[in-house]
Amino acid sequence: MACGSQPSSDPAHLSEVERRYRTLVEQLPLVVYVDALDATSSNIFTSHQVEPMLGYTVDEWQTDPALFVRLLHPEDRDRVIEAHARTHRTHEPLSVEYRLIGRDGSVVWIRDDGVVVLGDDGEPLYLQGYLLDITAEREAQAQLRMQALYDALTGLANRAFFHEQLEHAVSLRKEAGQQSALVYVDLNEFKEINDQHGHTVGDEVLAILGRRLKSLIRAGDSVARIGGDEFAVLLEVVSEPAEAAVVAERLLEQITAPITASGHEFALRASIGISLGDNGIDLLKQADAAMYRAKSQHDSDYAFYDDALDREALDRFKRIAQLRRAIQEKQFTLAYQPVVSLEPLEVVGLEALLRWQHPEHGEVAPLDFIPLAEESGLIVPIGRWVLREACLYASRLRSSLGRDLEIAVNVSARQLQHPEFVEHVDAALAFAELPAHLLTLELTESVLVAAGERVELRLDALKQRGVKLALDDFGTGYASLAYLQRLPVDVVKIDRSFTAKIDSGEDDLALLRGIVGLGKALGLQLVAEGIERVAQQGIVHDLGCDGAQGFHFGRPTTAAEATQTLTEQAVADLGRG
Ligand code: C2E
Ligand code: MG
Ligand code: MG
Repeated sequence: MACGSQPSSDPAHLSEVERRYRTLVEQLPLVVYVDALDATSSNIFTSHQVEPMLGYTVDEWQTDPALFVRLLHPEDRDRVIEAHARTHRTHEPLSVEYRLIGRDGSVVWIRDDGVVVLGDDGEPLYLQGYLLDITAEREAQAQLRMQALYDALTGLANRAFFHEQLEHAVSLRKEAGQQSALVYVDLNEFKEINDQHGHTVGDEVLAILGRRLKSLIRAGDSVARIGGDEFAVLLEVVSEPAEAAVVAERLLEQITAPITASGHEFALRASIGISLGDNGIDLLKQADAAMYRAKSQHDSDYAFYDDALDREALDRFKRIAQLRRAIQEKQFTLAYQPVVSLEPLEVVGLEALLRWQHPEHGEVAPLDFIPLAEESGLIVPIGRWVLREACLYASRLRSSLGRDLEIAVNVSARQLQHPEFVEHVDAALAFAELPAHLLTLELTESVLVAAGERVELRLDALKQRGVKLALDDFGTGYASLAYLQRLPVDVVKIDRSFTAKIDSGEDDLALLRGIVGLGKALGLQLVAEGIERVAQQGIVHDLGCDGAQGFHFGRPTTAAEATQTLTEQAVADLGRG
């Protein structure tokens, strides 16, 4: 005892001692508690500091035995309950750090130290301890950790942290054929920005770029700033080299898009090196070497370390460059194929189908270049052109025929994921002066499967304008039923593979009957694709399809031919009428 006096049973002396201790306990910058060692650890004493710390009064604390457990942060709950149970069991001291949620929702970090107090007979009496608020200490630690692991300018992982992530990635168990990939980015001539505009502007450019690169990365992958103007992306698991090439292309897309900083517009360029493997040190060395190769070769901005892969990458890069040139040099055209209603039998619309008039290879079919356009992001400008061109043609055709015709345009996932996709559609309709209800956007099941909340909002916005949505190639993708119910689709186009043999095989007919029944039950309009013979036409009509499309009604033709055919039909109808 501090005063050094003899213990006394004198009541006046005891109350004096109690007063002294109470004052001391109440002055401490922490909460002192005494809990019973019963099943619910019922609270015997809690000092009043608990109220400023957590917002709950001593009274609430003592009358609500479940309060403590409720306030425990869910991530800490089990660990803390276990630590308390252990102390109850073994009577070992308690020492644990955890989070409690205060009345105002704030997170309070606590250090909880307690000891089991024993009576004169050695029997445990109660648990006595204190709760110390260590939030500031924890925040400082977190801050230090941030500083140690992240680059302050861009918020990306720094070199040290990146090396940790790399070691982790290569140590992951992978399936046969899978490996990690390192994509190493070096900005070209970045020094000139610093030299000409100063470091503050240079920093601003890097910070903007850092944000762009971060938004690009899939879950599980990581991006870091390795040095002044060097960045690296780590793909934990890739199954084929093309996945890394796609990442390199997206990085280049983001890096080369103009950056405005301090009133200046900057166009950055970069060289990218890619390595694949399962050894961290080799990956770093090889990606660096590949990056130098990309710098020295003038045909491509990225290179693989591996020679064979590099040749493929070069080829791919050249094809992308050709596609880019095709946009600039207006090498794309649209073919139009009639879509008919079956009852009465007449042309109700046209589907616009993209063609590439390649200067050396002649006409290239969409399936031969659309996948690459999608992977490289070029489908966005190409798709914008398609929308504009198709709406314009439909509007002109409508005026010259003097009747409404629908126009269907195919849309890729990458287009729908673009934040301004709805604006692109609006602009195309406005430019062409085409009513929205005459436009149908054809989406494939894969588009819908990949759709997130934002894509769904965009689809809703389009629907509100009156634009129709069709699910294309129905039956070739995955589990479409759920999507059909959730998404605002008006039309389902049944894929050619389901209609090809209906006039010769019973099984195919049964399958088609099932699909049509399903679509009807969901209240959808059904269009049968790939109708090449009159017998198929009869069957899909009898099954209850609303519309059809196929060589039997007309092949895809140029705009001029489509106009001519429809005009001649109109004249013939007039003659008949
Ligand atoms: P799709 O949207 O299902 O278009 C129908 C495809 O089937 C067209 O091929 C068309 O020529 C073909 N076809 C139509 N009727 C028949 C028939 O009776 N028999 C046979 N055997 N084939 C028929 P195409 O033009 O080669 O287009 C292929 C796919 O490329 C399209 O399938 C569509 O998914 C995609 N595509 C076309 N244009 C665009 C576009 O502008 N943007 C996007 N994102 N994709 C497009
Ligand atoms: Mg289509
Ligand atoms: Mg189709």
